Amino acid sequence: MKTNTLSAPADLIPGNCLGTFKLPDDVFFVTERAAGSNLWTTDGRKLIDFVLGSGPMMIGHAHPRVVAAIQEQATRGTTYYAMNDVAPRLAARITELVPCAEAVKFVSDGAEATFYSLRLARAFTGRDLVLKFEGGYHGHHDYALHGFNPPRGVNYPAARPDSAGIPAAVSGTMLIAPYNDLDATSQLAQSVADRLAAIIVEPIQRSILPRSGFLPGLRDLCNRLGALLVFDEVVTGFRVALGGAQEVFGVEPDVCALGKVIGGGLPLAAVAGRRDVLELTVPGRVGDGRSVFLSGTLNGNPLAAAAGLATLEVIVEEDAPARLIEIGTALIKGFAECARKLSVPLQMIGPAAFPDTVFGEDEIHDYRSYLASNRPKQFGIELLKRDIFVHPASKLYVSTVHTGEQIELACEAAYDAMRTVRDSGLLG
Ligand code: PMP
Repeated sequence: MKTNTLSAPADLIPGNCLGTFKLPDDVFFVTERAAGSNLWTTDGRKLIDFVLGSGPMMIGHAHPRVVAAIQEQATRGTTYYAMNDVAPRLAARITELVPCAEAVKFVSDGAEATFYSLRLARAFTGRDLVLKFEGGYHGHHDYALHGFNPPRGVNYPAARPDSAGIPAAVSGTMLIAPYNDLDATSQLAQSVADRLAAIIVEPIQRSILPRSGFLPGLRDLCNRLGALLVFDEVVTGFRVALGGAQEVFGVEPDVCALGKVIGGGLPLAAVAGRRDVLELTVPGRVGDGRSVFLSGTLNGNPLAAAAGLATLEVIVEEDAPARLIEIGTALIKGFAECARKLSVPLQMIGPAAFPDTVFGEDEIHDYRSYLASNRPKQFGIELLKRDIFVHPASKLYVSTVHTGEQIELACEAAYDAMRTVRDSGLLG
């Protein structure tokens, strides 16, 4: 057996983090378990969770209905590769709820869902280029990782990769436009009209809401240019409404990427949309050069599909999006009240289901205004010190099981955290 020369098991996972989410040393913890809207650490702390697995746990951790569904499926086996009897039921639920979903193909994570959405769009249109928005996140793959978090001074439409290791040829297929700026987007798209396969957009980009007319404008633009409109609803799907952002804003994309809640905390995501587009994946279809390879060992995994189906059933029965609005609104009001008492210029941006804190009064309408705003990570770190689990550089996710008392506790912590940050001079 190989001898392990590293000192601690944590050293075996470079960075001692699972992805890019790495807490500073003074608030680092290891999770032991989670239930409802709480999370317990291996050193005995209990936190109120506003990260929720980065979104999937919208009805709370270890929900009894989801646990029962996983247990029942686990006794029947966890993966078969052949069609199973759960995935079609989940597909049926998705097509009932999501306006654009005529058909569904399952994959394992949100990045795969956007990756295949773009491959499908290129195959369907016979074109190469994809336009995305500055600051938009669509997962880890080489196409999506452009213009996500560029430093100041990178100009449109240059697609600057956000990671080393991305081939320049891939960068050459991506164009970056400013979110919420329909004129600039139209000009750019028109300049490459006959080469544009798709526009991909988070309908609510991070926590920045679309200006009225922006999403309908993208729909018209794609119709005019013969490009596909792809909504990345990995975050917004089933969360801002049962039918996602496309229901809220009344704009139907050709294809959408779904993830997070549809796996109920297990790895599952989906591409959903027009049947004529999704059918390009049918194995052995006519040889017209448009057949799309879509495959994965765990696609439509029955364990994940069972967890997702149970989650969606609870979400529908409880009208969960309405509950998130109630809870999120209480949180937003509570934080605003703290800011008022402390004379701190706080803006809570985004929908109630996943608000984000910004200090300052300037309007946030795109990546650049967000980048220029004051969002000291120390605020999140101070919350973490007070047992409120947040992502220090991102939005807060609320669940249907956060209680009024937990929201009050979060607001009390926010008051202390804001005062500490203000007194250290970080709020300008
Ligand atoms: N799209 C959006 C809008 C996301 O927020 C994320 C993940 N945070 C993804 C895609 C990628 O999903 P995953 O991490 O499951 O690959």
